[in-house]
Amino acid sequence: MTNEEQVKKITCYMAHFISHIAKKLPDDVTAKLEDLRKKEDSPLAKVIYETMTRNQKLADELNRPCCQDTGVLQFWVKCGTQFPLIDDLEALLKKAVMISTQEAPLRHNSVEVFDEYNTGTNVGKGTPTVWWDIVPHSDTCEIYVYMAGGGCTLPGHAMVLMPGEGYEGVAKFVLDRMTSYGLNACPPLLVGVGIATSIETAALLSKKALMRPIGSHNENEKAAKMEQLLEDGINSIGLGPQGMGGKYSVLGVHIEHTARHPSTIGVAVNVGCWSHRRGHIIFDKALNYIVDTHSGVTL
Ligand code: SF4
Repeated sequence: MTNEEQVKKITCYMAHFISHIAKKLPDDVTAKLEDLRKKEDSPLAKVIYETMTRNQKLADELNRPCCQDTGVLQFWVKCGTQFPLIDDLEALLKKAVMISTQEAPLRHNSVEVFDEYNTGTNVGKGTPTVWWDIVPHSDTCEIYVYMAGGGCTLPGHAMVLMPGEGYEGVAKFVLDRMTSYGLNACPPLLVGVGIATSIETAALLSKKALMRPIGSHNENEKAAKMEQLLEDGINSIGLGPQGMGGKYSVLGVHIEHTARHPSTIGVAVNVGCWSHRRGHIIFDKALNYIVDTHSGVTL
């Protein structure tokens, strides 16, 4: 296969994958929503969860996105230096977004700053967002595709705490946001928390935390304990599905962290909504793919 044919093939795969993600929630989110539906007692909470299930069924039957806000496309690319299309990836992801915008269709969500016009393609200066992790001596490529909506993970919050504020300060920061901005997204929420050395490192980690499977835990025991404590604390606010009240407010709380300067605690919160549209695809060097977030996908 020539390079041109390879680029065409993976562009086509990615366009179809984006369109699929717009319509069908990943398996772990679907399972968690079902789990929460069973655990809620109030008739209103149950009706809302049943409506979410119906939303998914209709999106599939009618072949259209399950939420009107199909977001800004954000990609985490974990690419081996020897992956054959590493040079072409960023351009082909843009092309895939343009194709999916027509095919899915996706809402037009890319407005040029200062010039203030909507490109109509979901591609603009710096959009879609592409973050890179380069992996030496590898010939595979993993791509997380994420639809970041205007009410959920685009308006995140971050700040740098004084070291004396400690982990209590981190918990206070997270809980304060959950009782204010957290409500902009449609609960139950997936809460991503980044703890690092500065605003930008914490912010990026809080977004990366949302790529983790629901039910996973930070590998550091103390961090995992804090995830559980925050989850219990946010559940006790009683947001329930769509903020209409219930015993459970979250799909989960995920913390990602790095080491920090002794004088700073960077902390950030990023919130995914019940319609948490993210997918994960892995390509080998022959462009065979595995999708491990959505069962039964053929691109
Ligand atoms: S918060 Fe999520 S479900 Fe609600 S409108 Fe935004 S993207 Fe859709």
